[in-house]
Amino acid sequence: MGYKMRLNGYYEDLKQSYLFIKIAQKVKEFQKARPETEIMRLGIGDVTMPLAPAVTAAMRRAVDEMGSAETFRGYSSDWGYEFLREAIKGHYAEKGVKLDLSEIFISDGAKSDAGNITDIFDADSKVLIPDPVYPVYVDTNIMAGRKPEYIAGNEGNRFLPLPDGRPADLIYLCSPNNPTGAVYNKDQLQAWVDYANANNAIILFDSAYEMFVGDAELPTSILQIPGAETCAIEICSFSKTAGFTGVRCGYTVVPNALKRKAGGDDVSVNSFWLRRQTTKFNGVSYISQRGAAAAFSPEGYTQIKENINYYKRNTKMICDMLSELGIWYTGGVNAPYVWMKCPNMSSWGFFDFLLDKAHVVGAPGEGFGDNGEGYFRLTGFGAAENVEKAVKKIKSVM
Ligand SMILES: *Cc1c(COP(=O)(O)O)cnc(C)c1O
Repeated sequence: MGYKMRLNGYYEDLKQSYLFIKIAQKVKEFQKARPETEIMRLGIGDVTMPLAPAVTAAMRRAVDEMGSAETFRGYSSDWGYEFLREAIKGHYAEKGVKLDLSEIFISDGAKSDAGNITDIFDADSKVLIPDPVYPVYVDTNIMAGRKPEYIAGNEGNRFLPLPDGRPADLIYLCSPNNPTGAVYNKDQLQAWVDYANANNAIILFDSAYEMFVGDAELPTSILQIPGAETCAIEICSFSKTAGFTGVRCGYTVVPNALKRKAGGDDVSVNSFWLRRQTTKFNGVSYISQRGAAAAFSPEGYTQIKENINYYKRNTKMICDMLSELGIWYTGGVNAPYVWMKCPNMSSWGFFDFLLDKAHVVGAPGEGFGDNGEGYFRLTGFGAAENVEKAVKKIKSVM
């Protein structure tokens, strides 16, 4: 008798995410014990610069339109507004990637799409995820009952793991990488694309930090790699490029050439994603989409690039300090993240050391996967004066 109501048991398989809770706790304790000490935060994973003026102006105009009967708008199309998809199409054209508007889906951010996309794949899909990496890929697959396998990033491969022959159906790649800041070059991405095409796998490529890439030789989209249109989906966001973490807007590109079997015949993956989105998602606000499109206007683009360059000057200060100290690191140059080796300490040991001696907060690498143990993430998302002070202080205690 009775109904067997149960929760999704796979949630119990998730590892507790202690990282940022534990960091906050330790900082609070330190501040309580030494209230007069100024703490410098180099662990931030969020943007700090305000929105670009071109973006806020566009959003203000959009608010006025929504308040007037003649220009009011309700639901947008299933893909998102055409003006924004045209702007994204133009952005890709500059990278040499030709997109059709039907391949671009506007979202409320890369995190949601990275999680939601798991819906359209078979529950038994074999998932391959680099370690260390942005924890969302792992946790969303565990919630769906899959058991991801990990491919190790380490000093040997400069935290840019390549295919190792293991079969996989879904492969997650993030470049420029969070947390390591490492960026795949064209040959390395070609190796992944060739591997995926040869094995019928799909690559889910997170390009949230693409605009931090300054080196013209490095790819900013997997779709720049020949053959990617038959094996890759790209997930991107305005969060880190245009400071939209509090506004919310992103996009996912699902090439029309990407086909896989569902029942018998090959079907378009794009049509499955469209069906998923029209069923469970109802779009992003007109105001956010207007703001996002303004980030790609000539004026807006110049302004968001200035902000990115500000963060990059911060990471350069961090990189220069590590070079001077002779400490191994990767990232930093084409990413807001610097991934350093802890000097003969564990990740958390180094966290405690840095907080106690230099009053600097960073993120222990162990929080991003087992292979992150012994490494540490520092970020350029902060005020330049703060980074400058932190760098001096770290130098004085190492
Ligand atoms: C910050 C971040 C995102 C952004 O997610 P939004 O939901 O768009 O804010 C996506 N992927 C990675 C790797 C990130 O670090």
